[in-house]
Amino acid sequence: MPELPEVETIVRTLRPHVCHRSITSAHVLRTSSVHPLSLPLECLEGCRIADVVRRGKILKFVLDVSDAPKQSLCHGDGLYMLVHLRMTGRLLVRSRDTVPGQYVRCLFVLHGPEGATQLFFEDVRAFGQVFVCTPSILAQWSFWRDLGPDPLHLDEEDFAARLMKKNAALKAVLLDQKFLAGVGNIYADESLFAARLNPRRKASSLTQEHSVRLLHCLRDVLRSAIKHCGSSIRDYCDANGNVGAFQNTFYVYGRAGQPCRCCGHTLQKLRVAGRSTVYCAVCQK
Ligand SMILES: [Zn+2]
Repeated sequence: MPELPEVETIVRTLRPHVCHRSITSAHVLRTSSVHPLSLPLECLEGCRIADVVRRGKILKFVLDVSDAPKQSLCHGDGLYMLVHLRMTGRLLVRSRDTVPGQYVRCLFVLHGPEGATQLFFEDVRAFGQVFVCTPSILAQWSFWRDLGPDPLHLDEEDFAARLMKKNAALKAVLLDQKFLAGVGNIYADESLFAARLNPRRKASSLTQEHSVRLLHCLRDVLRSAIKHCGSSIRDYCDANGNVGAFQNTFYVYGRAGQPCRCCGHTLQKLRVAGRSTVYCAVCQK
């Protein structure tokens, strides 16, 4: 599943291809790939993509509706298109004459200075969704409203104070999207290793020093992964179809049974919060 660094990479690689382009037409090829609360995708026709931003693991297309013929559908309130990639979702920019493959769930024809292009929302497992909404509809979507802060923009004291209130295992807390938005299995394991903290340890047991160290490690791991254009384990690639390289630098994720890169002890695998977790029993206390 794409996590914060992968979604950030997709946003960055999409922007030059989609910003300031108009959406000429939008097509739904699989109905269940559109969120049940979504406005019809035809609302997008005539809209100009002003920007693409990230909130946690969700991409948000900010749309300029001033030239859209169907702007009455959004009551002049503004319009967003959210894309939740979930397990295997991808956003790919393709030439106008590319025929969509069998896993393309939604298709957008864009018009810009260089002519027409297509944006494909491709999703093999089809757990991902597109959600077209006004700011007021978005404010009512509980998943969005409850998303926690972005770990890249969180101050140390706030993080420590919030951790202290949590009795769950550290790994479970990091994965909780209401606690932090954007962290998944890979970056939870890697940042806990970097911070030398046991994934099963209770969050409330951390000292201020531990919390600060964990936040710094988490940010360093996420920033380094963004620099490497994310991690490609299975399906992930950026908007140009390129894979990331951070998987080559993993210390623990996917390395159970192999020696720890720091102490040589065999890395252990266990389940925390229902998720497979790899850690070093010697380095992480
Ligand atoms: Zn070790």
